[in-house]
Amino acid sequence: MVTVAVLALQGAFLEHEKVLSRLGADFFEIRNSEDLKRPFDALIIPGGESTVMGKLLRELDILEDLRRRVADGLPVFGTCAGMIVLAKDVEGGVPSLATMDITVRRNAYGRQLGSFYATESFADRGEIPMTFIRAPYIEKVGGGVKILSRVDGNIVAARQGHMLATSFHPEITSDTTVHEYFLEMVASRN
Ligand code: GLN
Repeated sequence: MVTVAVLALQGAFLEHEKVLSRLGADFFEIRNSEDLKRPFDALIIPGGESTVMGKLLRELDILEDLRRRVADGLPVFGTCAGMIVLAKDVEGGVPSLATMDITVRRNAYGRQLGSFYATESFADRGEIPMTFIRAPYIEKVGGGVKILSRVDGNIVAARQGHMLATSFHPEITSDTTVHEYFLEMVASRN
């Protein structure tokens, strides 16, 4: 059984937990440095506000611990703000974990009219529904980063080894493809 730690400092973490429950994965929430003492096999960083999440990660003294674990190979999945937290370069923001070799642009679709819905293909899994909420997109990927989805030519999902990031919010649709893909990534590392 895989245990997923869900970063629960702010943002849309409950929605991820519901999907994990549906897929039969075990999970718990990370809210402070004490929670990091529990064993876990993977990490989900939810959507929300990347600036606030980055600030809390530093203030609660969990940023360095998580950065080391992810750098050491802990499977991680970041959605929207979570993708920004993972990125090495952030246009319009500040890097946090900075483990994934991608350049992201915050609020890439504009702040007010930035929410929309699309259907596009994801990895080798066919078309899936994608909900974007004041989303970033990936402007540039480094070597070893595989592009998994594009919408209107912009990169909205990518994977670098054990790290997965999406601009959109798969946790708020009923389609579980992306979470299943992530759990397969986790299983294949164990
Ligand atoms: N606009 C937010 C940010 O820059 C991300 C929005 C989201 O996670 N839905 O952090």
